[in-house]
Amino acid sequence: MNIKCITITWLAKADLSSLNSGQGSGNINELKLYSYGTKPYVSGQSLRTALFQTMDRMNEGVIKCISEAPCGDVENCWACDLRGYLKPEEGTGGTRRWSPLKVSPALGQLPTEIVSDLLTRHSYIDKGEDKKSKDQRIAHVQLTENVYRAGIVIDVANIGRVIEPIIGSGKKKNSMEGWKEVIDIGDEERRVRTIAVLDSIFNLSGFAKQARAATSLAPQLVFASIKDTYNQRGLNVLEMDDDGNVKLDVLESALYESKALGDEVFIGFTPGIIENEEAFKEVVEKNGKEVLPVVEVFNRLKAQL
Ligand SMILES: [Zn+2]
Repeated sequence: MNIKCITITWLAKADLSSLNSGQGSGNINELKLYSYGTKPYVSGQSLRTALFQTMDRMNEGVIKCISEAPCGDVENCWACDLRGYLKPEEGTGGTRRWSPLKVSPALGQLPTEIVSDLLTRHSYIDKGEDKKSKDQRIAHVQLTENVYRAGIVIDVANIGRVIEPIIGSGKKKNSMEGWKEVIDIGDEERRVRTIAVLDSIFNLSGFAKQARAATSLAPQLVFASIKDTYNQRGLNVLEMDDDGNVKLDVLESALYESKALGDEVFIGFTPGIIENEEAFKEVVEKNGKEVLPVVEVFNRLKAQL
């Protein structure tokens, strides 16, 4: 199969946590909510940041710049290749690259009670020459427990590859005459980077303000498909109802569609995440698919590359 893209949708149960709660909003730590304020979510931006932090920790030296000051070296810098960048340059208007990773926000699936926690924070303000004043503040932290659904589309064909339009000169001035490849890291290096992306999703951690809490959104229930055409279909699979059941009609139609399109699908399962576990497995097996441990889904995806 000529792999163009990999789509992964997953569920992750997070304990009482304040994932992605208002970054930098001082003493009030409020959760981001949707669905008329009944469900929490983690922004796609925050998920991407966590993904790259995980990748950075697992692959020393591959990220050569920070996002605020991109180096633009797609060939050597994994961040510029995978995160994309906008690099302003004087006169020319700058260069940019679209990320080959499309990340959706992680949406809390269950309407839950939002717990507010008051805690005191102590810090010392250094006034020099051993004079320190003690600063004591009260912080307000919102916490919640939920099952989050997140998704990512990996545009495999465009990892480590840059194409530019060929602009005509002479008679047909400024007409577009096709595309030329200006950077291509080659299939083997593309495979290495794609595997690193998969490993980072599997090990996803490193959310903002999680320095002391061990909350992560690493996949626990997974629907992954490998496609020979780039599209973002199938990201709504694993949607849950308010009682914690995966919507089986959505799952069934996704399984049907991927079979019709010739996509290769892998389903990963961990007990204790959804309510309708047995019915879920039945639908998967009825459609000729195996229910695999999550780690096995990632191993099989990697084996296809
Ligand atoms: Zn860079």
